[in-house]
Amino acid sequence: MSKHFDANGDYVRYEFSEFGGKFRPTNYEIPSPRGQEVLLKVDFCGVCHSDVHVHEGYYGLGQGRKLDLGERGIKLPVTLGHEVVGTVVSVGDEVNNVLIGQQKLIYPWIGCGECSVCQRGEENLCTKPGSLGIFKPGGYSEYILVPHHKYLEDLGKLNPANASLLACSGLTTFSAIKKIQPIHSDEFVVVIGCGGLGQLAIKTLVLSGNKNVIAVDVSEEKREIAKTSGARFAFDPRDKKIAEQVTEAGSDNCIAVLDFVGNDETMELGLNVLRKGGKFVAVGLHGGEIRYPIPFLITKAISIIGSYTGTLTEMKELVEFANKHDLANIPVEIRPLKDAYSAVEDLSAGKVPGRIILKND
Ligand SMILES: [Zn+2]
Ligand SMILES: [Zn+2]
Repeated sequence: MSKHFDANGDYVRYEFSEFGGKFRPTNYEIPSPRGQEVLLKVDFCGVCHSDVHVHEGYYGLGQGRKLDLGERGIKLPVTLGHEVVGTVVSVGDEVNNVLIGQQKLIYPWIGCGECSVCQRGEENLCTKPGSLGIFKPGGYSEYILVPHHKYLEDLGKLNPANASLLACSGLTTFSAIKKIQPIHSDEFVVVIGCGGLGQLAIKTLVLSGNKNVIAVDVSEEKREIAKTSGARFAFDPRDKKIAEQVTEAGSDNCIAVLDFVGNDETMELGLNVLRKGGKFVAVGLHGGEIRYPIPFLITKAISIIGSYTGTLTEMKELVEFANKHDLANIPVEIRPLKDAYSAVEDLSAGKVPGRIILKND
């Protein structure tokens, strides 16, 4: 039994019932949260690039091969949206009802909750994922059911629209940066791909005291923004001598590469500019495969690390960091929730310069 809230009636989810298909507004009965569950009215939901991939139904594996997401357990219909800020409207009978009326950021990378990985707090690495907005209905919806109140985080003084980005873009960036620590003051970090995540990475690095950031992006506009965000250098990867330029700018001391593109070319570039003992963190999911001589990997003691979202603890640390440094204060475009489909389409077509946030009135 849920406490409070007049749960009579229906609500709308913008869902698709075939990969690549249109989103249709579909009516569902407003659920009554049970036990530890919490029901929130969606206030804001970020539109993330991984929504484009989930909607398409696959990730490219290089040479035309695909990782089929239907085969990976994503069940249709799907209601996307994993960057959600909402207001608690009702709670299960094991949840303190002081939560009702509070606005919260939702941690979406939920696992089975029972395996040892989940018990250690690494739910994002669970082999039986139940992520909101992928495996379970997400925030392209008027309401969202969260399985436990522990996944809700206070916003502090953050702008709630912008704060939604912290659940995925922000968290992914933050977790990737944690994987390259410690960075010493003379060392350089290369950020490949200066879209939303790349810009957040540059800002986070600079705000954490890393002054030596090299940005790489094909877009002149994004390179300029990267410099404004604090990158010391910004290069165009189409330049034939890009690897030499980056290595030279980094004084042969590039200790880490954060790759927010993730294709054959960016991987090759990143691995070629790392110095001995360097770390390559792959975050972008554009697809492709790694070809790199194994003897170099060993003699240069290179680490290649994949990074996917982050833990609940990391999200809490990030919210604190963002409050302290005004990290989430980046330009966003607000669109109405009902325009979820065109937002994903525009993002897929590369028509979105910044971040779109859907707003549910
Ligand atoms: Zn688990
Ligand atoms: Zn995302």
